[in-house]
Amino acid sequence: MQSTIVIIAEHIEGKLKAITFELAALALTLQQHKPGVVKAVILGNDMEETALKLSRTTGLDVMGIEVPGLVSYHGEVYKAILSKLLGELQPAYVCIAHTNQGLDFAPGLAVGIDAACITGVEQVFHENKCIYFSRVTYNGKIIATVTAEIEPVVVTLQPGRFKPHFSKNSTAGLVELRTLPYLPQTSRSLGIRPAQTDDAGLAEARVIVSAGRGIGKKENLNLLYRLAELFPKSSVAGSRLVCDMDWLEKQRQVGITGNTVAPELYIACGISGAVQHVAGMGDAGFIVAVNTDPNAAIFNVSDICIVEDLTTFIPEVLAAYKEKKEAKHE
Ligand SMILES: Cc1cc2nc3c(=O)[nH]c(=O)nc-3n(C[C@H](O)[C@H](O)[C@H](O)COP(=O)(O)OP(=O)(O)OC[C@H]3O[C@@H](n4cnc5c(N)ncnc54)[C@H](O)[C@@H]3O)c2cc1C
Repeated sequence: MQSTIVIIAEHIEGKLKAITFELAALALTLQQHKPGVVKAVILGNDMEETALKLSRTTGLDVMGIEVPGLVSYHGEVYKAILSKLLGELQPAYVCIAHTNQGLDFAPGLAVGIDAACITGVEQVFHENKCIYFSRVTYNGKIIATVTAEIEPVVVTLQPGRFKPHFSKNSTAGLVELRTLPYLPQTSRSLGIRPAQTDDAGLAEARVIVSAGRGIGKKENLNLLYRLAELFPKSSVAGSRLVCDMDWLEKQRQVGITGNTVAPELYIACGISGAVQHVAGMGDAGFIVAVNTDPNAAIFNVSDICIVEDLTTFIPEVLAAYKEKKEAKHE
């Protein structure tokens, strides 16, 4: 019997997200190791047009599941409907985005269909008739190789790790539409509020000084602002933890759930270098990192690695700059 590999498309109110095409690429890679059919499943209120678009752009067969009233993502509805549907499809692999949305329903779905669950995968490879996934752990310090002992396997894919798949010959796959009503029992969605689009000038900044939790306390941001002032066209940004703690405004967050930046110089201060952060700054022209931990993952993507306490290192840089400037004017 042929196996089935399913991807769960991610969209916001019918607008397909880029990760959906990366999921298609992952599924097609899995298909090379485990021959079978690849199917995309998409859920929402009014799915015909989006399902057709998905089949045209990927060339995959698509199941559009119309759920009356499902205007925006709802974890309970996703888990209930997908458990039922996947029970029918009997897939070997279910590929889901490792995003806020995917992380919300993937583990529960895996429980619902008695599947193994491997999260945050970055690569897939095949050895001795076995499929392995790699995923980073300990904030990027260790790469773990994982395999599942059973099928089905729910896999969540880290964004930015697979080149998005688009159909080359624009031959659309088959589209099947079904209506599956489901009313949430325990929670209701309040809808989606768009994020503020203002990125605090990060896109234009030539130099970004970025704060991580390693700055220790909000007051230490002053050091980073003073460091940034040494450069024209500079800005201060931060990791998600720093923004979540309200040390910096949300618009200044760099990473997969924040801004993607590519300044000429990125100075990472007290940032561990988690994949979700690096995904947003890895294309910077030159990266300098200051971290007390010589094994910090940020050093893997840095051009200059400074193993120092930033609260002593930055004041020394500022003092050295001041001294040089004064000497110039004497
Ligand atoms: C779905 C999802 C989405 C996410 N999206 C994002 C995102 O968009 N952006 C993002 O940044 N993160 C994101 N994260 C969180 C991410 O996984 C990490 O938790 C986060 O990036 C870690 O932030 P940090 O490096 O500031 O803190 P930590 O991981 O706590 O690192 C602090 C670092 O500071 C160093 N340090 C401590 N004291 C000093 C000192 N005195 N001087 C110098 N160095 C010091 C430590 O050695 C450590 O390396 C996301 C996570 C998930 C699950």
